Parts: sequence; C-alpha cells; structure tokens
Amino acid sequence: MSPELALGLGVALGLLVGVGAALAFRVSERTQRGEPVEATVEEPQLPPGVAAVLSVLPWSAVVLDDDDRVLRSSAAARARGLVEQDRVRVPGLLALARLVRRDGGIRSEEVELSGALFNVHVAPLGATGTAGTVLVLAEDLTEVRRVEDVRRDFVANVSHELKTPVGALTLLADTVDSAADDPESVHHFAARMRTEAQRLGKMVQEIVLLSRLQGAQAVPEPRPVGTAGVVAEAVDRCRLPAAAKSIDIAVFGPSDLRVLGDEDLLVVALRNIIDNAIAYSPEHTRITVRTRRDGTHVDLSVSDQGIGISPTDQRRIFERFYRVDPARSRGTGGTGLGLAIVKHVVSNHGGEVRVWSKQRLGSTFTLRLPLHVEPATAPVPNPHLAEVVKK
Ligand code: ADP
Repeated sequence: MSPELALGLGVALGLLVGVGAALAFRVSERTQRGEPVEATVEEPQLPPGVAAVLSVLPWSAVVLDDDDRVLRSSAAARARGLVEQDRVRVPGLLALARLVRRDGGIRSEEVELSGALFNVHVAPLGATGTAGTVLVLAEDLTEVRRVEDVRRDFVANVSHELKTPVGALTLLADTVDSAADDPESVHHFAARMRTEAQRLGKMVQEIVLLSRLQGAQAVPEPRPVGTAGVVAEAVDRCRLPAAAKSIDIAVFGPSDLRVLGDEDLLVVALRNIIDNAIAYSPEHTRITVRTRRDGTHVDLSVSDQGIGISPTDQRRIFERFYRVDPARSRGTGGTGLGLAIVKHVVSNHGGEVRVWSKQRLGSTFTLRLPLHVEPATAPVPNPHLAEVVKK
C-alpha cells in the first residue's frame, strides 16, 4: 500500500472509531448526501456522521453488529458483492470481525473475493450498549496491482531495450581498439559510436519523460496555449530532417485557437508525430499539418504520403517500445517510445489521438484537444461615461 493510502486509511479509521464512541446515542438518520449508504436493519441506530463519512470514502465500507448483521453498507460494498441483503458474503471478513471483537485493535488482511483481491481493515466501533459493532473497510487492489504490473513490465522492457545500444557501444569500443593503427577505420567506428550514444541519450530522455507523464499530476500548471504557436515551433524543429529528404511541410488552419495545457509538452507530442511522418515517408513527398476547430475541440492533424500502417499494427503502435519493423525503426533512430509519449501527453490534456492509415498511401495522425475559451469578461463600468449619461 502507498504511504498516502495508508495515511488516508489511518485517518478514516481514526475518524470512524471516534464517531463510533458515540454509538450509545440513538439518533435517526434520514437523508445522507453523496453515495447512498444503506441501512439494512433498524436497531441499533448509528449516530449522524457515520454514514456521511462512509459515503465519501473511496473504499467499500460495512458496519456489522455483534451478530454479524449488516447495519450499514456503502454502494461500493454492495456493487462489489461483499454484501448481500443484511449479510456479508465473504467468510474471511467475518473471521476477521470475530478476531477484532475478541481482541480489540485494528486488523488488516488481504482477502480474495470472486477473483478480485481486497485489502481489508477491520476496526471496533463498539461503545456502551453496542459492544461488538465493527467497521470493515475494503480497498479493491485490482487497479493498484494493474499499475504495479505495468510498472514492472516497463522496468523489464527498459532494461531489455537499453541492452542493445550499450552492447553495440561495447562492441564498437573493442573494434576501435583493434583497429588502432588504421585511422580511417577508427574514424568510421567512432562515428558509429556517436550515433549509438545519441540513440542511448534519446532513449533515456524519453524514458524519463514517459515516467513523468505516467505520474500522478497530469499537467502541473495548465495555461492557455495558442495552437498556432505549437504548430510553428514543432514544424520549425523538424525543418532540417525534412529538408534532408526534400520533404515539404505545408501548414494550414486558423491562428486564433487555444487549448489549456503545457506548451512544451504539446510541442513534443506534435513534433514526435511530424518526426515519424518524415521518417516513414519516401523522399520528395509532402507533409500537411492542419489545425481545425470542431465544436468544442481543436484537431491538430499531420498527414503524410508515407509507407502507411496495417490495421493490426494501428492497434499497437501506441504501446511503449512497439515498432512495426524494428530494423527500419533502428535505421531511423526510433526508440518505439514516440507515440506512447504522444498518447500520454494528449490524454493528460483531456484529449485523444486518432490514426487513419492505408499501406503504401500514407497516414494521418490527429491530436484532438478540448478548445479553451476565455471566460467572457463583464464590461468594466466607466465612471466618466456614467457622469455623461446622468447629465
Ligand atoms: P519509433 O521511435 O519507432 O518511430 P513510435 O512510437 O514513434 O516509435 O512509432 C511506433 C511505430 O509506429 C514505428 O516504429 C512505425 O513502425 C510506426 N509509425 C509511426 N508513425 C508512422 C507513420 N507516420 N507512417 C508509418 N508508420 C508509422
């Protein structure tokens, strides 16, 4: 469990145990705000506050009386099948509740229910007259585990991917060594070492950016960003590689549209798309970058006349380290991370990325972002004008 989550659980348990001390009062609860917390049996009543606290907790919550009957349960607990009518369906949970009634204190354990794993915390809520009442909080670990798996996969992929350039550099160093008395060979292998070192640097940079993008904060300080500026900057940075292949880049679209976000990240995303359009297009072709407003969204699209992508590959190209043709991608200095970065940048901005492609005809990648409209400012009263009108 993450420290934040552990802290959150601690605070919630503390709060609820505190509320539980007032259980002797019999006050009826009628309306509760937020997620519905269902009262299953009439007596004993819980004091106001318990249901309200339970309803805002992200975890499944159940209050059991000393007879294992469900006094309160959150919608999440019912939806996940922990509770059915006034009974808890999971024997492991009931066993924990009994231990807590017997020994006091708070107990935590992982419990499995229909294939899903829950981290369960049970705490006594008992006070005079309601001894034996316990609170059960269950945190669904499915998503936590999924994120852990993705992270583990990422680390495994990264170490595998880094091995290739590192291995190549070691080999090249050995070759330079053995060709020490042939200046031309030394020159040639030194140049290849430089290329590999650059690829390694790019990969490390992209890995760092990608893990930052996958972190908690989507876009740290969103600001209004003009899309025309993003396009101009991204196209400008691609001019050199485009010129090297005699590829013409044409730009179309209005220049007054804005989105809310991080300009640098948006430039990186659009640049990755244009870089690919150049890398996977033959010489003497044309790339079109078009901006278009579509209702509440802005579409930034990049069309090329390149090799295209098969429908099967279109489904996978946004995965980290996925390349259609690894040998070709290596030749163009690709890392297989470019489109994964694009996908994360765009989704962190509340948008999405789409691809249209036909093999041997070309591809169009579209970044679709929510349009930012400045709130209309109320006209500032002009005291001088008011004077004039009065006269
Ligand atoms: P890479 O660094 O290999 O270019 P990306 O994540 O940017 O990695 O792209 C993944 C794969 O998608 C590429 O290896 C390439 O096969 C394919 N691809 C991306 N853009 C295009 C394009 N415009 N035309 C054809 N294939 C493309």
